[in-house]
Amino acid sequence: MINKELEVFNEIAKALLTDEVENPISEVIPPNELHGKLSIELNEDAIPDPVFEKALKEIILKTPKTSSKLFFNQLFGGRQPKAVLGELLSVLLNNSMYTYKVGGPQVGVEKEIIKKSGELIEYGDNFGGTFAAGGSMSNFMAILMARDRADKGAIDKGVTKPLTAYTSAASHYSIPKNAAFAGIGRDQVRYIPTDKHGRMIPAELGKAIKEDIEAGNLPFFINATAGTTVLGAFDQIEAIADISEAHNIWLHVDGAYCGSVIFSEKYRHLIAGVNRANSFNYNAHKMLGVPLSCSVLLVKDKGDLYKSFSKEAAYLYQTDHEFDEFNLGKTSLQCGRRNDALKLWTLWKSVGRKGLGEVVNQQFHLADVTRDYLRANADKYSLYSFDDSISVCFNYKGVDPKELCTRLYEDNELLVGFGSFNGETFVRFVTINANNTDKEILNFFKVLEKTAEKMVKEQLVEV
Ligand SMILES: *Cc1c(COP(=O)(O)O)cnc(C)c1O
Repeated sequence: MINKELEVFNEIAKALLTDEVENPISEVIPPNELHGKLSIELNEDAIPDPVFEKALKEIILKTPKTSSKLFFNQLFGGRQPKAVLGELLSVLLNNSMYTYKVGGPQVGVEKEIIKKSGELIEYGDNFGGTFAAGGSMSNFMAILMARDRADKGAIDKGVTKPLTAYTSAASHYSIPKNAAFAGIGRDQVRYIPTDKHGRMIPAELGKAIKEDIEAGNLPFFINATAGTTVLGAFDQIEAIADISEAHNIWLHVDGAYCGSVIFSEKYRHLIAGVNRANSFNYNAHKMLGVPLSCSVLLVKDKGDLYKSFSKEAAYLYQTDHEFDEFNLGKTSLQCGRRNDALKLWTLWKSVGRKGLGEVVNQQFHLADVTRDYLRANADKYSLYSFDDSISVCFNYKGVDPKELCTRLYEDNELLVGFGSFNGETFVRFVTINANNTDKEILNFFKVLEKTAEKMVKEQLVEV
């Protein structure tokens, strides 16, 4: 029976949600003090329930609160209640998504998301898709499909050709990691320079491909990014697709960060041309506020998914042969796979595609509010990023951004990170939490300025 635990869950959840408002920042515990301050240690003997519950509650309340109004540190934040509901139920159901026999209607739920997502990007009649364990793994699946198309023997014999991959200098670090996993090699990745907005320069891409062909290499994979990790820039997909089509190279669009713009009528133009890509992914756990992880991978020709990921297994695939496409294990990276679909479905079902679009629009609105504030206070701030991005990068004049972010963290004030581009380092403020309003943005600056002014004063004293 789990009734008792559900009661405990409700009690701890209530305490957490109250604490999130009253103490949005959990007091920082240095790693070497964890065992002294919290009852983390595991022992030989059972303990009484009240002792257990107290220990658990303390650990929960001391954990960083990623849904609070002062968390701006990551490319996710906030929570959509309807999505949390779906996640909690998928934990209780505990299905695995590999077969229809075990997943049942949940397979239909996943397939419906893939279908509607593919229709949104006008992917034609033959697309397929899957859920991967995250954006890095979606990118991994894309590079594997590209490899298997360019080097037909690779799947059985290992890579036999000098394959080369292309991605922008501002793209995610999973691209070289995945090149290593795929047996391509990290040295076979070419980093294409970006313009001042952080977008890949298509002419430089064309040049790099020509050089590789002349050197006897086989260009096989181009990664374009929809929302780069630091500046939140969108590569120009149409121009990149012209090059990939001219050379018959697989084009993947990494939309882990901002691919969810597909839901917004106002902002989907930022990924115009995505219908020409061979594969595309978006992380619903970033822009859409769905709990981690929720990464959707779409593939224009579903045959590519089967070619790279299908493997017969008599002990697993025992039924539903006439509906084999409902056996999702034939197109996934994993064997046992948790249900990441239901939490996106519960949200989408309740608010509709238009509601998801509003979540996206709110983030761009908050980024506009942020840029307006920085421009209005140009005496104090320098701004590094550009319109149409939800990452707003800036510096408080005279204060080192790394020291500022660290100080805000150590003083339990707020959580925000820094990033670098073209040799400049700055605070990277991300307006990903669509639960926020203009008020929370202005409060962020109030809290930040208190610490920044303190640091300026201290510097004056030191000098
Ligand atoms: C976050 C991110 C990823 C990685 O996604 P995970 O779900 O964290 O693995 C990949 N690419 C980009 C552009 C990202 O922002």
